Amino acid sequence: MQDIAALYARFQQCAAVSTDSRQDQTDTLFVALNGPSFRGRDFAAQALAKGARYAVVDDAELAASAPDRYTYAPDPLLALQGLAHHHRRQLAIPVIGITGSNGKTTTKELVHAVLSRRYAVQYTRGNLNNHIGVPLTLLSIRPGEHELAIVEMGANHQGEIDLLSRLAEPTHGLITNIGKAHLEGFGGVEGIAKGKGELFHFLASTGGTAFVNTADAKLPTLAAPVAKRITYPGPADTYPAELRAAAPNVVLHLFDGTVVEAQITGGYNFPNLAAAAAVGAHFGVPTADIAAALAGYAPTNNRSQLVSTGRNEVILDAYNANPSSMAVALASFAARPAPPKKVVILGDMFELGQESEAEHRALGELLAAQAFDTVLLCGADMRYAALHPDFHHFPTKAEAAQWLEANPLSGQQILIKGSRGMGLETLLPLV
Ligand code: ATP
Ligand code: MG
Repeated sequence: MQDIAALYARFQQCAAVSTDSRQDQTDTLFVALNGPSFRGRDFAAQALAKGARYAVVDDAELAASAPDRYTYAPDPLLALQGLAHHHRRQLAIPVIGITGSNGKTTTKELVHAVLSRRYAVQYTRGNLNNHIGVPLTLLSIRPGEHELAIVEMGANHQGEIDLLSRLAEPTHGLITNIGKAHLEGFGGVEGIAKGKGELFHFLASTGGTAFVNTADAKLPTLAAPVAKRITYPGPADTYPAELRAAAPNVVLHLFDGTVVEAQITGGYNFPNLAAAAAVGAHFGVPTADIAAALAGYAPTNNRSQLVSTGRNEVILDAYNANPSSMAVALASFAARPAPPKKVVILGDMFELGQESEAEHRALGELLAAQAFDTVLLCGADMRYAALHPDFHHFPTKAEAAQWLEANPLSGQQILIKGSRGMGLETLLPLV
């Protein structure tokens, strides 16, 4: 194991940490991580040539060739994680960990919008929420500058949130919900509850604070061992959210009656908004600022995004999909005011393992129970959802694209949603 103090001293001379030699390397500490089909060390010299100050490599000989530029670490990933944890321990600031099956990134962005009204906040960029992204987020926190940090934690198997919690040492934690995402790796919904619950478990053993979504059936139980709990939405501070009759927006009523009209669409975003309000209130952000932050947040990341293409109104939710988020997205879409006509374009849900056929079939039953005007299903496993003769099934996205070209849609409301690998946002120019 390399000397963490020596590596930390090098890190402190750098402006940032990089694990991708294709990025700008100016003043970075380059950590040469290995991938499934490459060895990071092969890119270390290139990173140094591009401006990296130091490189961490698992090649002792290479490191010895220029010890003033290289640090040897037998496992660069462990070095990255150890460095991040060491850095975290130097910081006396609140760290808010956010996990859950659906809505982590959205909630993280909303919490950031609210807290940054009052504090200098560092937070997970994009979706860097795994065993590499979390350390990189931690290492981007600048002492003396950032007053708070928000760390998104993702997982697709047991033990992962525990590892990320031990790295980030969150003082506060929020689990958005327990749903059917990454069913395959977790081994069923109970496995998911256990896996996500590792965040609350960490808080229970360290005296941290849990934000508890009482609208989720499993979360209050999971949070029970945590002594400090803040619930949302609660009886005292209810959020009688409503879908507005004519608008795409969601409306939230804050504690004191302040009405927030959010720009993100979808009833499923109520708990995400409520979570951000609860976190903001806990950290003393004035209600008017909470309201302004929530109303001002507009997604641009393929999540619950409202796009007017000139021909149609599109809800672009193509960032990802799983049985839970499909169900809420369809319910929310169905609840929108009836005219004009409604079209759903759905892509395969991935990572369902043996449950895939049954879950796609269940989705087909949900669709059959709704009166959507046009249903386009795209992807191999969507054949199980094609339960109605009027549903169009296309084994590939290219075939769906051909259909859209041959049958141009106009004056319609369209929901586009599928797993990341389907990349359904590429259909947007066709509608
Ligand atoms: P990932 O696991 O990819 O990091 P995530 O948990 O960060 O996903 P988001 O990216 O915020 O989730 O949202 C992805 C999709 O999940 C949204 O576009 C929406 O369809 C759905 N979603 C968002 N919030 C909720 C919620 N509270 N409940 C159910 N589904 C939701
Ligand atoms: Mg995310």
